[in-house]
Amino acid sequence: AADKQTHEFQTEVRQLLKLMIHSLYSNREIFLRELISNASDAADKLRFQSLQDEALLEGDGDLAIRISFDKEARTLTVADNGIGMSRDEVQDNLGTIARSGTRQFLEQLSGDQSKDARLIGQFGVGFYSAFIVADRVTVLTRKAGEEAAAGVRWESTGEGEYTIESEARERRGTEVILHLKEDADEFLDGYRLRRIIRTYSDHIDLPIRMAREAADEEGDTEDETVNKANALWMRPRNEIKDEEYVEFYKHVAHDFDEPLTWMHNKVEGNQSYASLLYIPKRAPFDLWDREGGHGVKLYVKRIFIMDDAEQLMPRYLRFVRGVIDSDDLPLNVSREILQNNRQIDRMRAASVKRILDTLEKMAADEAEKYAEFWGTFGRVLKEGPAEDFGNRERVAKLLRFASTRGEGDVEAVSLDDYIGRMKEGQEAIYYVTADSFAAARNSPHLEVFRKYDVEVLLLGDPVDEWWVSHLQEYDGKRLVSAAKGELDPAKLGGENAPDKAEQEKTETELKPLVDRLKAALGETVESVRVSSRLTDSPACLVVGEQEFAINMQRMLKAAGQ
Ligand code: ADP
Ligand code: MG
Repeated sequence: AADKQTHEFQTEVRQLLKLMIHSLYSNREIFLRELISNASDAADKLRFQSLQDEALLEGDGDLAIRISFDKEARTLTVADNGIGMSRDEVQDNLGTIARSGTRQFLEQLSGDQSKDARLIGQFGVGFYSAFIVADRVTVLTRKAGEEAAAGVRWESTGEGEYTIESEARERRGTEVILHLKEDADEFLDGYRLRRIIRTYSDHIDLPIRMAREAADEEGDTEDETVNKANALWMRPRNEIKDEEYVEFYKHVAHDFDEPLTWMHNKVEGNQSYASLLYIPKRAPFDLWDREGGHGVKLYVKRIFIMDDAEQLMPRYLRFVRGVIDSDDLPLNVSREILQNNRQIDRMRAASVKRILDTLEKMAADEAEKYAEFWGTFGRVLKEGPAEDFGNRERVAKLLRFASTRGEGDVEAVSLDDYIGRMKEGQEAIYYVTADSFAAARNSPHLEVFRKYDVEVLLLGDPVDEWWVSHLQEYDGKRLVSAAKGELDPAKLGGENAPDKAEQEKTETELKPLVDRLKAALGETVESVRVSSRLTDSPACLVVGEQEFAINMQRMLKAAGQ
C-alpha cells in the first residue's frame, strides 16, 4: 500500500533475533507454543472486553485458533480471531520489546545455547521465536470492532528491519504466516504439528483447529480440534498427568524450567472456585521489581479477567504463579472491586494457607528441595512477618538463618532448631545484624555469647533488620538483638553463667574510669557502662533497647532520612 513504511528494530530486538536465528538449534518447535500462546492471549483479551462491548465480537463469538500449512508455498500459518492489533499496536509490539526485562535478559545470556534458550520464554520475547524456523514472517491483523480498512500488514526477514503498511482485512484477529527456512521442512507435516500442539498446548482453553489429514468414514473433511481445549484447572486432579501440570506452568509462568512444586484445589460450597498454584524453581527476572511480574491470574467462570491480581496474593508470596478461577465473582469485576471483596479475601487466605502448608511440608520431608527454595526465594519470604501479621508465626517457622553454630553464610538454621538447642535458663532468641554475614560473624557483640556458649543467629542481609523488628516473639520466646540494651549474662543460661556478686565488685572498682569516660565523651553518648558483654575487645558501642539498632540507623541515614 501507499503508506508502506520501513522501520529498524530496536537494538535489543536485533540482538535477540541474532540469538534466535544463530544459536537455537535444539528444541526449535517451541516457536509454535509461543505463537499459540499469543493467539490464546488475544482471544482472552477479546472475550474480556466483549463483556463490556458485545459489538466487538462482530457476531462471531466462536473463538478459536487455526493452524494450517502449504507444502508448495512452504508456509505455516497460525491464525486467531482474537482482539487483533491496530497499526500503532503492531509497531509497539512487534518492533520493540515492551517488557522492561529485556536488558536483564540480554545481560543474563551466557553463550551457553541450552541455557539461553531456556531464558527466552521467561522474558516474554515469544513472538520473535518465529524467526527460529522462518526466514520471513508476515503478520496480517485487524483490531476487533474496526473497519476492514484498518487492517495492517507487517513483514520482516528478521535482519534488522521490518515494514508496516495498510491492507484491508475482513476478518478480525491476527494471522502469522511463517515462510519456513530450507531446513524446517519437518513443520510442513500435519502429524508432527499435532504432536507439538498436544505436547505444549493441550491445556489451552481454546480450540486449536487443523484440517483433517484425511476424510473420515463419513467423508467429512471439516476441520478438527486438535487439543483438549478445556481449562486444565477444572479437570479432576487424578486425571491430570504431571507433564500436563508442567506444561501448563510453562505457559502461565513464561518459564522454560519445570516448577518446584504445585497445588491444585477445587473448593465447592458456599463459595466455589478452583486454584492451581505453582512455586517456580528459579526467580523470575523481575522478582525485585515491585511493579513487575505476572503473578496469579484471575478467571471468572473460565473467562480470563486479569493478570497479576495483587489482591489474590500477598507481596511476600509474589513468586507464586498460577490461576484462581471463581464461580461467584461477577464477570465485570475491576481491580477496585477486588480491593474490598470478602470472597477475594477468603480465596486469598485459603491460598496463602495452602502455600504455607506446602512449604512446611517440604521443609519437613524434603530438606534439600526446601533449601533450594529458600536459596531462591528466602529473601522475599522474609517480608512475611512484616506484611502478614496473622501468619507471622507460620512464616517465621519457615525462615532459615546463618548462626554461630553453622558453617559460613549458609542459611540453614530454623527458629525451632535454635529453640531446641537453647541453654537451660536461656530466655530469649539472640541475633546480631550487620551489613554482611562476615561482619555479623565478627561482631564484638558476640564475645560474651561465645564465652557462655550461647548460639546467636547471624543476620547479614540489610533487609533483616527491618523484618526482625516485626517479629518480636516466636513460640513464646522474645527475639533479642545481641547489640541492644543492657545484657544480663545470668539470663543467657548455661552452667558457667557469671556470678552476680563478682560483677558488682568489678563495677565498683571501675567506677572512677567510667566517670572519667563519661566526662570525656560528654553528650556524644547517652551512658557509659561496665559490661559483661566483652571478653577480648576493650569496649563496644551499643544502642538502647528502645532505639533502632545501629545498622538500621545507618540504613535510614543512607536513604536520606
Ligand atoms: P508476550 O506475549 O509475552 O507479551 P510476545 O513477544 O509473544 O510477548 O508478544 C508481544 C506482543 O505482541 C503481545 O504482548 C501482544 O500485545 C502482541 N501480539 C502478539 N501476537 C498477537 C496476536 N496473535 N494477537 C494480538 N496481539 C498479539
Ligand atoms: Mg507471547
